[in-house]
Amino acid sequence: MVSRDMVRIQVSEHRMVMIHRRSLCDNCSRRDCTSFNGSRVTECPNFKPHFVIFMKCRNCGAIYDPYYNIAALDSELCPECNEAKKNEGMVVVCHR
Ligand SMILES: [Zn+2]
Repeated sequence: MVSRDMVRIQVSEHRMVMIHRRSLCDNCSRRDCTSFNGSRVTECPNFKPHFVIFMKCRNCGAIYDPYYNIAALDSELCPECNEAKKNEGMVVVCHR
C-alpha cells in the first residue's frame, strides 16, 4: 500500500523506488548518522540514498534529485516548477 507520505518513482522499466516524504532520514542508508533530530529533515550533508536517482522534470526537462524534492507538491516536477506551481494558485488583490 502506498500512503500519502510515500511516493513511488519509476526509475527503469522494471524498477520502482519508494521515496518517503516524511523525512530525508527515512530514505537514508547511513547507519552512524547523527543528523536525525526527531523532526523532519529535508536537507542533510550526510545523506546517502539507497539508490541514486535522477528525475527529468515533466514540465521544463531539468534534471533533479527527487530525494531533495520530498516536500514538493508534485514529485514529477523539479523544485523550480513546484515553486512556480505553488504560486500559481495565489490571487493577487490590488487595493488601489
Ligand atoms: Zn521543471
